[in-house]
Amino acid sequence: MVMLDIIDLKAHFPTPDGLVKAVDSVDLQIEDNERLGLIGETGSGKTVLGMSIIRLLPPSAIVEGRMIYKGRDLLRLTEEEMRRLRGKEIAMILQNPTTSLNPVLKIGDQIAEVISLHLGLGKREAKARAVQMLEAAMIPEAERRAEQYPHELSGGMKERVMIAMGLASHPSFVIADEPTKGLDARTKAEIISLIQDMTSGRSMLMITHDLAAAGEICDRIAVLYAGEILEEAGAETILSDPQHPYTQGFIRSLPSQGLHPISGSSPSLIDPPSGCRFHPRCPYVMEICKREHPQMIRLERGHSSRCYLCH
Ligand code: SF4
Repeated sequence: MVMLDIIDLKAHFPTPDGLVKAVDSVDLQIEDNERLGLIGETGSGKTVLGMSIIRLLPPSAIVEGRMIYKGRDLLRLTEEEMRRLRGKEIAMILQNPTTSLNPVLKIGDQIAEVISLHLGLGKREAKARAVQMLEAAMIPEAERRAEQYPHELSGGMKERVMIAMGLASHPSFVIADEPTKGLDARTKAEIISLIQDMTSGRSMLMITHDLAAAGEICDRIAVLYAGEILEEAGAETILSDPQHPYTQGFIRSLPSQGLHPISGSSPSLIDPPSGCRFHPRCPYVMEICKREHPQMIRLERGHSSRCYLCH
């Protein structure tokens, strides 16, 4: 069953230089109990897409389209209805724990606050539940740690706290924004395994530039470039048989593949290239690619690519 159906989603921002089209006509579906990885370079629109779902974009954002969650269009809900869903039903594990955690509140109290707010528990019960969440997040001496402040924890430990906090209200749908960013290899492996365990039985959108981590955690991967989806398939297929030249380049740029970066840089989101947005960087560019915008082509069940090579 489809849990979240995103249809023709646009998130644009007016600026003095023009309209920034951070998310441009995105269609995505996330099934019940499915983990979808949304990958792309910095500035591809990933975080804006996540923030659009949870409706936490600045008021200047122009958001259009439909996002059907359990039969209701999130974009048509009132602020009050959305506030009730946010955190309880749909939660976000925010990027950058150092700035996302409140520096003057003990971590146990921060998690307990989320629990009281969304599950309606009293102070003592919420605190006990917060300690259980820290234990579930494999934080040793959870009771003692609950009494500590964020600056007393390592980077990996703070990420565990963010995961515990994001999942404290038992949401059905979780958006995890760059949960492995900036972690050393060992801590990253631990966080990957923790996310796998703690999100089991839920739907998740994992926003990341780390294709290897997405490959380990997610069932399916969608590749975002300059605000639009270029390829979508099962995680194994994306890693072993990518069809879009951008995905192929992205894989070649992984450390395990020899770190061969894609030439050129991400295009402007105000005035993206004509035709295929990847054409100025594509080694297979043809005349039609410069003129006409390619549509998503379905290659086989669950695998689509936006490229004229697939036509
Ligand atoms: Fe390259 Fe053309 Fe395919 Fe775009 S449509 S990725 S430019 S071959």
